[in-house]
Amino acid sequence: MNNSKQPAAATLSIWGGETEHELYERSTQVPVVHSVSFAYKDIDTWQNVALGNEPGHIYSRNTNPTVRTFEDKLKVLEGAEAATSFSSGMAAISNTFGALLSPGDRIISIKDSYGGTNKLFTEFLPPLGIEVSLCDTTDHSELEAEIAGGCKMLYLETPTNPTVKIVDIQRLAKAAKAVGALVVVDNTFASPINCNPLALGADIVIHSASKYLGGHADALGGIACGSAALIKKLYHYREINGAALAPMDAYSLLRGMKTLSLRVERQNQSAMTIANWLTQHPAVEQVNYPGLESHLHHDIAKRQMHGFGGMLSFSVKGGLEAIKVFLPKLQYAHMAANLGCVETVVGPPVVTSHVECTAAERAAAGIPEGLVRYSTGIEDVDDLLADLEQALAYIE
Ligand SMILES: *Cc1c(COP(=O)(O)O)cnc(C)c1O
Repeated sequence: MNNSKQPAAATLSIWGGETEHELYERSTQVPVVHSVSFAYKDIDTWQNVALGNEPGHIYSRNTNPTVRTFEDKLKVLEGAEAATSFSSGMAAISNTFGALLSPGDRIISIKDSYGGTNKLFTEFLPPLGIEVSLCDTTDHSELEAEIAGGCKMLYLETPTNPTVKIVDIQRLAKAAKAVGALVVVDNTFASPINCNPLALGADIVIHSASKYLGGHADALGGIACGSAALIKKLYHYREINGAALAPMDAYSLLRGMKTLSLRVERQNQSAMTIANWLTQHPAVEQVNYPGLESHLHHDIAKRQMHGFGGMLSFSVKGGLEAIKVFLPKLQYAHMAANLGCVETVVGPPVVTSHVECTAAERAAAGIPEGLVRYSTGIEDVDDLLADLEQALAYIE
């Protein structure tokens, strides 16, 4: 029995946020409110709502009832005071930087961040006068030394893409607090079911809702959760800059999240089984999965995660040529640049996350040309294993 005051994640992914508002015409499901604006019968009420002195909505770029419910659900799942949503995960990340960083500030992060985030670090932040320092993801001492030199923000992502390295949030958040820096964590790969960065010392947790939260690869969205004061700044930046989440997408994400906990639990289990199976396969060279004892950061993962996640990667003998033969033979996997959905999705970093790098740059990032990123779906795990076996037989 769950005797703690806070309901478990399985309950919150269903009920979270949904009981806080009166539902339209006694509907049990959150309605999709497509209206761009909200009309008032008298100026006083309108003014009170506009000033934030009374609950209500004015214009959907700012707030919208369907979108609000999505924000409230994430807020309770991440144990945050507040949450605000965005049109995509990248909008959540770029708006967080836009709202909190100024010319002259320094941001410290890791080399293995998501491709789009890395582009912000290398292409878009430096011309704004923001200094970016990217450290070796596996070297926590280097990160601590860099942080001790002072910074405005520490930006982390764990597990990383595509080699599923684990970054110690608690340890690095402590270093960041010592210099008064804000800690932002992209929790997309773990989902709120497997990790809660705010409880480990982060100030803001970000998700690409397009992945595990929605879970069905049919809606783009992003979210940031944190203290009321910080989220107010992000909300204000977003309401003016306009990267608002669409009501229909908010609905699809809410619908998907009802099964978030079920899906992620299944994906955790299946990924563990598949990772173990792959380590025994003669055509497989290397398997990256934080649940394996051989994983460099297995101990950190055990400490900070409730489950090891559905993401793994592995390299096959014969490199890229072998992948070109083997991946198209998979019957139960999309070859696509996506992850975290009910279907299994595979893609080599050569054409997905690291398409713009040279072979030498990929090698330097520890990404063999024959690496496959595998996002475990919720199919029957024996079917997934049989599928891998028949496909790998073509390159043995
Ligand atoms: C997909 C992804 C993003 C970007 O999210 P979008 O919704 O595609 O903009 C950011 N971080 C991580 C870890 C991701 O996987």
